[in-house]
Amino acid sequence: KRQRLYTALRTTIEDAVARSSGVEAGKLKAEKKTGMRVHGRTGEACPVCGDTILEVSFSDSSLQYCPTCQTGGKPLADRRLSKFLK
Ligand SMILES: [Zn+2]
Repeated sequence: KRQRLYTALRTTIEDAVARSSGVEAGKLKAEKKTGMRVHGRTGEACPVCGDTILEVSFSDSSLQYCPTCQTGGKPLADRRLSKFLK
């Protein structure tokens, strides 16, 4: 199961990175709205673009985000993800 999660995350991230060159600044306007919509929905499809919602963990909290709508296709730095990506 862990491996499947890894594969799913990796695929999502690679997709997002591949698309990042096409992301325009105007898209950032939708950022906050999207943040509300994806909260608590890690692994589900983004209601805006259909990409898989990712999660970043901090020492005392975590947040969910859509890599396409909210970071211009770049995954946020996350210790767990960074480990996966090596
Ligand atoms: Zn999205």
